[in-house]
Amino acid sequence: MSGKLRILPLGGLGEIGKNMTVVEYEDRLLVIDCGLRFPTAEMVGIDLVLPDFDVLRGRLDDIEGIIITHGHEDHLGALPWVLRDLRSEGELPPIFGAPLTMAMARSKLDEHKLKEVDVEDVSAGETLELGPFSIELIHMTHSIPDMVAIAVTTDLGTVLFTGDYKFDQTPVDGPPADMARLAQLGAEGVLVLCGDSTNADRPGFSPSEAGIGPHLLQAFAQCEGRIVVTCFASNIHRVQQVIDAAQLVNRKVALLGRSMRKNANIARSLGHLDVPEGIMLQPRQIDDFPDERLIIVSTGSQGEPLSALRRMAFNDHPQVDLRRGDTVMFAATPVPGNERAVNETIDRLYAIGCRVVTASDTPIHASGHGYEEELKLMLNLTQPRYVMPFHGDHKRLELHGKLAEAVGISPDNIFKGQNGLPLEIDERGARFGKPERAGMIFVDGVEIGDVADVALRDRRMLSADGIFVVVATISEQDGKSVADPEIIFRGVPFPEEAEELVGDIGACIDRTLERAAKDNIREIDVLQSMLHDDLAAFVYDRLRRRPMVLPVVVEV
Ligand SMILES: [Zn+2]
Ligand SMILES: [Zn+2]
Repeated sequence: MSGKLRILPLGGLGEIGKNMTVVEYEDRLLVIDCGLRFPTAEMVGIDLVLPDFDVLRGRLDDIEGIIITHGHEDHLGALPWVLRDLRSEGELPPIFGAPLTMAMARSKLDEHKLKEVDVEDVSAGETLELGPFSIELIHMTHSIPDMVAIAVTTDLGTVLFTGDYKFDQTPVDGPPADMARLAQLGAEGVLVLCGDSTNADRPGFSPSEAGIGPHLLQAFAQCEGRIVVTCFASNIHRVQQVIDAAQLVNRKVALLGRSMRKNANIARSLGHLDVPEGIMLQPRQIDDFPDERLIIVSTGSQGEPLSALRRMAFNDHPQVDLRRGDTVMFAATPVPGNERAVNETIDRLYAIGCRVVTASDTPIHASGHGYEEELKLMLNLTQPRYVMPFHGDHKRLELHGKLAEAVGISPDNIFKGQNGLPLEIDERGARFGKPERAGMIFVDGVEIGDVADVALRDRRMLSADGIFVVVATISEQDGKSVADPEIIFRGVPFPEEAEELVGDIGACIDRTLERAAKDNIREIDVLQSMLHDDLAAFVYDRLRRRPMVLPVVVEV
């Protein structure tokens, strides 16, 4: 008698980003992906958004492993934050994934001083036995090397998580997706397909990455001055195509941006990036070369506030001053939600006098996600009994469901879910279970990285939302508040009910201080950080703003 299988998405459904899914069978857990989401424009002061992983609390011992499909931030980025949080509860579970993905994971975990975590390389085609789960990694193609789909088999059958994919017939690196294995799985019987819905609204097949190179070359040939190409830092294929084209037009290549350089180094060491001798320049050498001999590959294709391109566009980059005659090429399209920041960056570039080339001017970008016909191909190859669209906003999940209907899957077997809603399957069939908590966790503060990053973040917070300083006076004897807290605001965009709000903030401070006094917390820095966290949350809740909060605790 088999038990119940539960597929619980914590993120990635009804949104773009923070993909994370918990699979449960016989009280054992498997986590697929652990991604983050970048904040939208109205979450000023927030650096990252994580899935709410509350369901894992107290269950560390039940987790057989965390498997990551690929190295993109929306699948891997939350891993260090989640592990940092859970480490106090016991021994952390092992992490599995393809070699490039795991190299990127190790680098992230190192930055967070999480060296004790067991990170294991598993190549596509290999299998893993973890408790009641048999796991197989299947090679797929996407906009990063070492992309794998994950087949999880229990007594009840096989659940196939496609991860992000396209069926690229002529990939730049490695073979096409392992369609033979997908078809074989289909013949053996796939119980549930959890598939990428990103481009469920685009008809036809996505263009191949190999088609981009010639267009880049053509675009480069038309430039006289410096060329800046911006793309995702993890898009190793694109960086490779830029390097290849650069060689043909006799230009040197400099990589700008911490993540760009880091990913290129990792990819190079694993043989995914082929760099001819002598073609690379260090950023500090840029000024030593004539304009017509240079290509700069930069982060910032999404208009990210701290990225190299954004800083160049605002004349705030330590090594590169953009000027008239330079051409900036966007070899990426904005992820939904980032359009405004990208347009702003582009307009700044025009203001400087740069020429701007985007993927709508010339085909220098191909999506890493399959279009309608590719989603249908996946459905036809794997012939799943149930379909659960993943990775997309509600509209794309719906459209993915329609595609499944179009290839003959009964509407009753198509489960359009949402974050926190588990699909439960037993011998009688599949149905949605009771919703679990699934929301967002904000990471406020760049704890790692350059001091310059922190300074920039502070400036950004101050300019957008102002600052408020709170001075609390407590008694040396018992830690109790002995005077009304002083609350000073500067530049905080206030609604009408400001006075009432100040009163409420005072009450919030009192509550924190009382809690601290009860727990006998007397260290000033601990008190200040408690006040900071409580007040920041309180003010965000009330104003939907993130002013900088500076609590000062004075003992008398
Ligand atoms: Zn993704
Ligand atoms: Zn991806």
